[in-house]
Amino acid sequence: MGNKLSDRINNLPVSATLAMAAKARELKEKGIDIIGLSLGEPDFNTPDFIKKAAKQAIDDNYNSYTPVDGYGDLKKSICNKFKRDNGLNYETNQIVVSTGAKQSIANAIQVLVNPGDDVLLVGPYWVSYFAIVMLAEGNPIEIRSDISSDFKITPLQLENSITKKTKLVIINSPNNPSGSVYTEKEFLELSKVLEKYPEIYILSDEIYEHINYGVPHFSFAKIPSMFERTITVNGLAKAFAMTGWRIGYIGAPRWIARACTKMQGQITSGANCIAQRATIAALEAPTSKIKYMVDEFKERRKLIIDLLSQIKGIKLNQPMGAFYVFPDISHFFGKTLKNKKINTASDLAIFLLEESHVATVSGDAFGSPRNIRISYAASKEQIKKAISRIKSALEN
Ligand code: GLU
Repeated sequence: MGNKLSDRINNLPVSATLAMAAKARELKEKGIDIIGLSLGEPDFNTPDFIKKAAKQAIDDNYNSYTPVDGYGDLKKSICNKFKRDNGLNYETNQIVVSTGAKQSIANAIQVLVNPGDDVLLVGPYWVSYFAIVMLAEGNPIEIRSDISSDFKITPLQLENSITKKTKLVIINSPNNPSGSVYTEKEFLELSKVLEKYPEIYILSDEIYEHINYGVPHFSFAKIPSMFERTITVNGLAKAFAMTGWRIGYIGAPRWIARACTKMQGQITSGANCIAQRATIAALEAPTSKIKYMVDEFKERRKLIIDLLSQIKGIKLNQPMGAFYVFPDISHFFGKTLKNKKINTASDLAIFLLEESHVATVSGDAFGSPRNIRISYAASKEQIKKAISRIKSALEN
């Protein structure tokens, strides 16, 4: 039959995070006791006050198509949230609600990037940025960083990566996969470079905003010279344990918001009605209502770092946000573990899956070939069991 699919899909990489999660699920279904630490998904239930608002919405017959850019009162709640948490003054016509932050990101990239434009991915970067830029026929350009700089890039690296073709820079703090959080000062320094290039736009993915262990969250759009050039992306999945509800949103210059609405209007229309009503309840509640989850993640972070630090050859930083550790495991390259040669981070991730039955994600897909990502959005028991298995496999 031959391959009849488009070049677009044939050339598109599969999402490494979702692929590993699917592989782990498949092995679990075969009866293997897999511990899944691959997916960035809180293991909490959605808080009751949010579920209640969703149930009410069903009873109130919220069943029709929603406005493409989101319900008006939800957009007001989002403006209030931006003001309250981020000191950002967006008007409702600068907000677009989407089916998950992934769609918010895809919209923004589709409406800004022309074929051949360069998009700078500040590394390490979330796997899907790369693929979404490819879909827009842009060139994803990695700016690499590693554990020696706490996985942060310098202004000089940014400056050296800019060319005449650069259209967009994607930043993500707190960062998936490294957990690093850029300080206000560090962002100001990066913005000084961007001030010299007014034709470049910035997409700031702040989905892990509330999962933060001490470095104050700073929104890139808060820098006055950047506000008119930045798309601020956020969503409900991580902080509110609402991954499956699929609600993301942007605050952006009006013309970009209008374009994202046009794009979305041809692809999915407005986001789900019930989830949007529930989102109003989530965003209007004080953030103290979700603090118990962040406190628990903080304890798990300590636990996983303590346990991993006892494994010879694993190099760690102190992640200040999100729920991932991103150890440098290059010590194992060139070694043979249980008759398996380890040359890459993917080799190690596969070895850990097959030998320890622990699912992690290789750093390759995040632009960090010396690392693997381990999610600690799992119970303490699971974490203890997983790291003890990893320890015995690696120290064998
Ligand atoms: N963003 C999460 C992760 O990195 C969820 C999976 C995905 O959409 O990539 O694990």
